[in-house]
This record gives sequence, structure tokens and C-alpha cells, in this order.
Amino acid sequence: MANFSTHFSVAAGVALMGSTTYFSIHAVTAEEAAILCVAGTLGGILPDVDSDYSRPLQIVFTGLYMVFVFSLLRGLPRLSILDTWLMLGGLYVLFRHALLPAFRKWTVHRGIFHSILAALFFGLLASSLLFWLYGFEPGFSWLTGVFVFVGYIAHLLLDEFYSVDFDNKRLKSSWGTAFKLANAGNWRNTFLFLLGTVCAYQLTPPAHDLSEFVLNKKHYEAMWQKFLPEYLPF
Ligand SMILES: [Zn+2]
Repeated sequence: MANFSTHFSVAAGVALMGSTTYFSIHAVTAEEAAILCVAGTLGGILPDVDSDYSRPLQIVFTGLYMVFVFSLLRGLPRLSILDTWLMLGGLYVLFRHALLPAFRKWTVHRGIFHSILAALFFGLLASSLLFWLYGFEPGFSWLTGVFVFVGYIAHLLLDEFYSVDFDNKRLKSSWGTAFKLANAGNWRNTFLFLLGTVCAYQLTPPAHDLSEFVLNKKHYEAMWQKFLPEYLPF
């Protein structure tokens, strides 16, 4: 399987190429392009949260902890500094000693998190969160979800690629455990993710905005026209 730095580098590279392309045709601002870049990179490391002591798990849980803290603070503007620090400590204990061990116990490496269903779930979840929680435009929210999805799929494909032993011309035992539709060995988790995906889809911006922005023919024509430098003679 590919290691963290390979996944991180590939996802960041793909996300950078994609986000700068959208920026070049003026479909997104520089700030939005940076968000797309982070979203694609995050999608590329997200599947390995199912590995108990992996860096993605630490990064994602730390990120969730911070998002939770700031979401609470938005609703408690009069809280003193000391109370805020006490709250930080309490939440840290909750995340570190209750939620994280429970999550580790629930997940199995190369289980449901390594599946196309999970990629779809996190892509739709990202679109919904950006739209409802952070108030971004519907089209941009959809595009961010697509970046998470593409980064996630890139991770699964990379895992499969590393399952091929090119020297001995054989497939390793890990072949087929990453790029799969769902987890046939655990129908309960598959059902949970399916349910989560349907719920996340219900919360996404109107589907009309997906076709208006992400599937917009004019964007692809503009990319094609702007692909080659103007100084070339053809
Ligand atoms: Zn993986």
C-alpha cells in the first residue's frame, strides 16, 4: 500500500492542478481555489483514518476537535478566557479518551472507508457542509464536494496500484481491498454508509447548480481554449 507521504503528495498535486485550472478560467477566486486545493488533499488522505495509529486519523481528529471548538465558541461569545481554556481541556479529554478509542474500535483498515460508497458519502457531505454551515454558493459547494470525491478516488486507486508486485509479476493479497463499491464483508457498516450518503445527498445544494457550475459546458470550452500558451504558433 502507498504510504502517507505518497498519498499526500499525489492528492495535493491533483488538487493543485484542478484548482489552478478553475482559477485560470476565472470560475473561482484565488481564495476559493485554495479551499478546493485543501478539499482535494483532504480527500486524498481521508480513507486511511481507518488505520488505528495513522497520521490521517490524528489530522482528521485534531481538525474535528478544532472545528467543534470554534463552532461552540460562535454560540458563546461572552465566555471568559479561563472558561474557554477549561472547555478546551474538557473537549480534549472527550475526543482523545472517548471518541477516538471508540472510532478505532469501530473501524477496520481497508474496510468500508476504502470504498467508492465512502468517497461518495464524503464528497456529498463536504458539499452539504460548505453550503449549509459556511454559506458558500451552491455551485462552489458542489465543486468542493467533487474535489473531495476525486481526491478520495485517487487514494483508492493508488492503494490498488501499490498492490501490484511488478518485480514478481503478481498481485499482493491487498489487491481489491481498496477500490471496491462497498464492504461486502460487513453489511451493517455498508448500510450505515448508504444511509449517511442518502442523508448527505438530501442536504446538498439543488442538483440544478451541479449542472450549472460543475458540468457547465462553457467551463470546459474555456479550459480547452486556454490550455496552450498564446505564444505558440498554433
Ligand atoms: Zn489507504
